[in-house]
Amino acid sequence: MDRSADIAIVGAGIIGLAHAYHALRKGYKVVLFEREQFAIGASVRNFGMIWPIGQPAGHDLEMALNSRKHWLDVADQTGFWINRNGSLHLAYHEDEWAVLNEFVDLYNKQGYDIQLLDKTSVELKSSVVNPNKLVGGLWSETECTVNSRVALKKIPAWLEQEYGLILRFGQQVQTIALPVIETSMEKWKVDKVIICSGADFQTLYPGAFKAKDIVKCKLQMMKAEIPGNVLDLGPSLCAGLTLRHYKAFKNCPSLSLMDVRYDSENPFFKQYGIHVLLSQNNEGELIIGDSHEYGDTLEPFDKTEIDAEIISYLSSFISIPKIEIVERWHGIYAKLPNENYWATEVDDGVHIVNGLGGAGMTLSFGLADKIINAL
Ligand SMILES: Cc1cc2nc3c(=O)[nH]c(=O)nc-3n(C[C@H](O)[C@H](O)[C@H](O)COP(=O)(O)OP(=O)(O)OC[C@H]3O[C@@H](n4cnc5c(N)ncnc54)[C@H](O)[C@@H]3O)c2cc1C
Repeated sequence: MDRSADIAIVGAGIIGLAHAYHALRKGYKVVLFEREQFAIGASVRNFGMIWPIGQPAGHDLEMALNSRKHWLDVADQTGFWINRNGSLHLAYHEDEWAVLNEFVDLYNKQGYDIQLLDKTSVELKSSVVNPNKLVGGLWSETECTVNSRVALKKIPAWLEQEYGLILRFGQQVQTIALPVIETSMEKWKVDKVIICSGADFQTLYPGAFKAKDIVKCKLQMMKAEIPGNVLDLGPSLCAGLTLRHYKAFKNCPSLSLMDVRYDSENPFFKQYGIHVLLSQNNEGELIIGDSHEYGDTLEPFDKTEIDAEIISYLSSFISIPKIEIVERWHGIYAKLPNENYWATEVDDGVHIVNGLGGAGMTLSFGLADKIINAL
């Protein structure tokens, strides 16, 4: 058998798949190695949110919007569910409303598709928003939702069928000395390698990871079912805590006031990096999270008090009489303190693409487009 290809990709998470997609479309022969039988990393543990509104205006937002375009194309061709449901940032306090107003004043004409809504207009967008003490909200048109557990299985199968991607699930890449790449089972000859290994910093080029300011982050998540499965969330929802999580809002002057208020009301939020997002998948299930704990080695055990705080905050902005938590898990992603991603040529022809933090789904196809174009 001919075990040669133009490009080898390590990792069948969304970053590896997005690189495979763009490379195949350019006519490269691509082999993809994934050590598990299917992806089980951050890419299937997330909210499934394509979330351009979280990206700062300029280059990052453009990349997110380009990525969104590819998500819509890929979903259309592959046949997996994608919901162009938009998002709502809800304000329950004057300082949150001030941040949203400042954001619109600063960035309205800069690539976002946003609009401030008063209380009545928010209620028209989503019937589950808690109206009590609601001041208003920021509507954003661009957010989409996918069921990542399903999409991450469908994309590789579609790339294999449509573009001839060579899939090697169940093979861990052990060594790379180009032109040879060696897995636990096979040796291949390739011209280039793109390593998209997510939160595994130890198997390949551990020295490069060690030298980089990259850290792991653990996030606690939950899935809920609504009895009768009758609820339609409408847009994905979040509230004030999220404004201090995403860089998009960092230049809003009132953010610091809001930050101080939250810290005095509940220091636990900052201690565990809690902010609360709510998405809904095509099964009607609600995906709820999250928290952020950082370190090189993270406790495998989850904290019940984090889940309790997430649910408590969620209850402040939605009014669903009864939700039943049916799954709990955590995910781990790789993050850089001051950059949105890490793309480097670590050896001749060997590239690492990693560190997309909480925006890997959002930026994946846009970043991969840029990296493959530059090869
Ligand atoms: C709880 C949670 C919620 C999130 N929510 C969102 C969201 O809603 N929107 C958003 O934009 N982003 C979100 N993110 C971030 C996003 O999920 C990640 O940035 C993204 O999934 C990272 O993708 P990846 O391909 O780099 O890593 P992974 O998905 O972890 O994939 C890496 C793959 O590489 C494989 N691998 C590693 N080493 C080897 C080797 N040597 N040989 C073979 N295979 C190997 C692993 O088995 C793994 O499958 C969230 C993340 C988490 C954890």
